[in-house]
Amino acid sequence: MHLAPSNLIGTWIALGLAFGSFVTVLVARVPGRQGLVSFSQCPTCNHPLAAKDNIPVIGFLILRGKCRYCKAKISLRYPLIELITAICVMMPVLKFDGWWIVLAWVTFIVLGIALAVIDFEHHRLPDRLTVPLFLISLFLLAGDAIANHHLHRLKIALISAIALSFFYLFVNVASRGGMGMGDVKLALSIGLLTGYASMAAVLAASFGAFLLGSVVGIAMLFLGGATRKTAVPFGPFMIIGTFLTPWTTQYVVSILNLGH
Ligand SMILES: [Zn+2]
Repeated sequence: MHLAPSNLIGTWIALGLAFGSFVTVLVARVPGRQGLVSFSQCPTCNHPLAAKDNIPVIGFLILRGKCRYCKAKISLRYPLIELITAICVMMPVLKFDGWWIVLAWVTFIVLGIALAVIDFEHHRLPDRLTVPLFLISLFLLAGDAIANHHLHRLKIALISAIALSFFYLFVNVASRGGMGMGDVKLALSIGLLTGYASMAAVLAASFGAFLLGSVVGIAMLFLGGATRKTAVPFGPFMIIGTFLTPWTTQYVVSILNLGH
């Protein structure tokens, strides 16, 4: 009997929430280079949290958004990040059949959401996340390539990873550091994951990132929240652009085929 990832929806919902909780730990501890394995505590009174307070989303609801010990408000970002992660994790589970591919996408979503939030808040994409993302992605996609005889796809994925990171390196040099080296390293994983699907997906991820970045940049100029010099982190756009490729790639394909 073949057990597809989509046969385990209930498990994935629970896993997605748990991964979301892990994302909040990454977002809180990676920028300050803190250890990841220790008990969670209230950020206000530092009281260690009970296991029941730590249940994603449900803990927040039971406590009505307040610390059990000091009554300080718990930031809404925790349940929000948990919910968004759980919802995004359902995409590959419902979209793809193979375990290797689903796990590669889930890895991208979990580490990608953490990277997007950290880049948004601290304007950097730490190696501590971009390097593991690349290595885990490479391991999982190589697993799929070997198990399903897709070695040619792995080859295209590796070429795409190198080509896309060179492209971002070029933008980095041309913009004199406006695009950071973190973006260049993130591009390795994005090129790998989308290149394994198709070359059009690599283009769709990049078009998506630059389109989103331009729309937000122009909106910020017009709304007065920014000047032309304001640094807008690009990582979140790269990550959202990649996440959307299962839907956007077909448009890139039809645009490129226009003359034929
Ligand atoms: Zn507290």
